[in-house]
Amino acid sequence: MIIGLTGGIGSGKTAVSDSFEALGITIVDADLASRVVVEKGKPSLNSIEEHFGNEILTPEGELDRAKLREIIFNSDSEKQWLESLLHPAIANQIQEELSSSKSPYTILVSPLLFETNQKEFCSKVLVVDVPVETQVSRTLERDGVSEEQVNSIINSQIDREKRLELADEVILNNGSLADLQEAVRELHHKFLSEI
Ligand code: ATP
Repeated sequence: MIIGLTGGIGSGKTAVSDSFEALGITIVDADLASRVVVEKGKPSLNSIEEHFGNEILTPEGELDRAKLREIIFNSDSEKQWLESLLHPAIANQIQEELSSSKSPYTILVSPLLFETNQKEFCSKVLVVDVPVETQVSRTLERDGVSEEQVNSIINSQIDREKRLELADEVILNNGSLADLQEAVRELHHKFLSEI
């Protein structure tokens, strides 16, 4: 059984996945997978270099993420090109990690579960939900970015109501971290009983 875990920026996905991990559940992280596929020596990085030229690499031969972000921010067609290269590569990486998991069920954590085809890996979706004000204040505290930046990220993500509509299970993360861990423990027992 694979449970997709998602939620907006600063909602508590990492806090939730850390709690499941502490209970012995394997976590596959889509963000990490998206970094692995563009590591030095990986075929996707070679394709990116062929397409954009070697100025897209740092002097150490790593992907210059800031440069790539700027290019795709300014060009929809380059963005599409990149997505058509990376989405299948990321999906393969995720698939590989999911199939090597040995825990009773596995959590796939992804900020873009609904926006990509990653939900198709999952038998159920768990949404971690917080009021937008909490999302903003926790992200500001954690990242030291501007409120404007946080709001613009929130606006680029699927909205709260839509996300909740698509959820099979919801954890409301508006209490303490201890409350959150308790909610995770309850869900863990529920998931174990459903295997
Ligand atoms: P992102 O999408 O940006 O990676 P996230 O959904 O993984 O974010 P977390 O990093 O888990 O969110 O949580 C955001 C911040 O809020 C962190 O600093 C975390 O420690 C804090 N936090 C999460 N849950 C709680 C809580 N119940 N009480 C207090 N602080 C919390």
